[in-house]
Amino acid sequence: MVTNPKAPKAPPRIHHAAVVDPFVSDSRKLIQSKHVPEVPILRSLAALPGGETANLEDILNHRSGYPVKAVKERLNSLIRRKLITGCTCGCRGEFAITEAGKAALTAEDESREYRRVS
Ligand SMILES: [Zn+2]
Repeated sequence: MVTNPKAPKAPPRIHHAAVVDPFVSDSRKLIQSKHVPEVPILRSLAALPGGETANLEDILNHRSGYPVKAVKERLNSLIRRKLITGCTCGCRGEFAITEAGKAALTAEDESREYRRVS
C-alpha cells in the first residue's frame, strides 16, 4: 500500500476519563491519571490569551480534588502525545496547547456534534 504523504493526518485522539467522583473520599485513593479528564485541561489551555501559559498551580487549582500525582501523570501523557507543551518537574510549568492539541479538540467537538445529531 502506498501512503499519500499529502493526505491529512488524523488528529490525535483525546482520552476520555473513567468516571470517578474526586470529592468522594473513598474514591480518592483509587483515582489514577486515567480518571483525570483531558478535555477540560485542553480547553482551559486553549482559552488562554495568545502567548500566555498556565503554570502547574493553575492546572492543579482547576483540577482540584484530583491527586497531584494523577494530574501530573495525565499532563505528562498529554506532553508525550504532543497535545500540550510544558513541564511537570515543579518549575513554573508554562503549559500551553499545541496545534495538535487544538486539532484534537476540534475533532472532539465534531464527533460530539455528530453523536448529538445522529
Ligand atoms: Zn520543569
